[in-house]
Amino acid sequence: MAICDLCEEQAKKSSSGKPHAHLMKVDEVRIFPGKKPRGFEEQDFQCQTCQSKFTQSTNKNDLAWTLWRG
Ligand SMILES: [Zn+2]
Repeated sequence: MAICDLCEEQAKKSSSGKPHAHLMKVDEVRIFPGKKPRGFEEQDFQCQTCQSKFTQSTNKNDLAWTLWRG
């Protein structure tokens, strides 16, 4: 299934970008305490329009918004 325009844009957002209106949280946030200066968190989302899945991560070594193409 093709991803919707909102998800296309979402994949380009920074970590401070908010999930678009049709993204719903999936499961609970995952907290990785880690070492200094601090850990990071991941949250999964799924689009109610096109069913695309995203993971938002605050880990600076990861993409802020990872789109899982399926
Ligand atoms: Zn979508």
